[in-house]
Amino acid sequence: MNLNDAIQECWDKIDEGQVATYIPGLAKVDPYQLGVYLFDVANDKRCQAGASRVRFAIESVSKVITLLYAIERLGLTAVEAQVGTRQTGFPFDTILNMEITKETHPLNAFINSGAILISSLIEEEDGQSPFEQILNFTREICNDPEITLDDGIYQSELRTGDMNRSLAYYLKAKGALNNDVTTSLDTYFKQCSMMVTCESLANLGAVLANDGIAPWNGERIISSAAATYTKSVMMTTGLYNESGTYSVKIGVPTKSGVGGGLVAAAPNHYGIGIFSPALDHAGNSVAGLALLELISKELKLSIFKY
Ligand code: GLU
Repeated sequence: MNLNDAIQECWDKIDEGQVATYIPGLAKVDPYQLGVYLFDVANDKRCQAGASRVRFAIESVSKVITLLYAIERLGLTAVEAQVGTRQTGFPFDTILNMEITKETHPLNAFINSGAILISSLIEEEDGQSPFEQILNFTREICNDPEITLDDGIYQSELRTGDMNRSLAYYLKAKGALNNDVTTSLDTYFKQCSMMVTCESLANLGAVLANDGIAPWNGERIISSAAATYTKSVMMTTGLYNESGTYSVKIGVPTKSGVGGGLVAAAPNHYGIGIFSPALDHAGNSVAGLALLELISKELKLSIFKY
């Protein structure tokens, strides 16, 4: 398939969305961008088109990486004891699901409460802060040593992150947070402010698609169990409360972020990174998901298709 044609086909979808405005650093991003990077794991081929080299804020796609890192550090059983794998039916920054259901632990790792809890699991080690460890791990699993923190985005997150602060204090009040509120939030805000490209996310997707082994050098980065667990959670909760919709339309484990990024992992086939910053009502990239749907149909990637 010709990726440039696919981008042309999805371009008008950009007008159906809007860049995130609740984080000022994201509001300044030009919405008219659409890029894609495909990593064909089975045939060791890569191709890209459009804004595939543009750096953008990883935002919630970082929740995949921190979850994987926590599983590697603490083990799957310990992580599963802290956070569920259920849909909330509420927006990603909601506190309601915990309050209504009287849950002590967040329903899943990809809503903000769950992600802040996962970030609180990472402890300082050998003089490295939790964020420094996450940054190093991100560079490794994305095969991208140029990933850095964008201070403008980070300051934006700090200025407007009161909902996340309330979630962290709520978790603390329930005895669920594993670190102090300040460190847990600082780790979370910083992990959201890392700058990636479509290629970085395609590499992350490729490791997940390849059962935890980096296809670029054959080395195992994460366990098979961590890869399987995380792909399952991406499938069920990776696209906020529209996850079910895209499970049917696309059928590939995917995680989005409000920076406009998408990572998708088609088991044994492809790692895919997409960027387009105009978002739908739920916080998913509109043109990005249209492009992913087209790619999934064209390459028959749905895991549910025989
Ligand atoms: N930093 C954003 C927040 O906490 C991430 C949201 C997202 O990408 O879903 O609101």
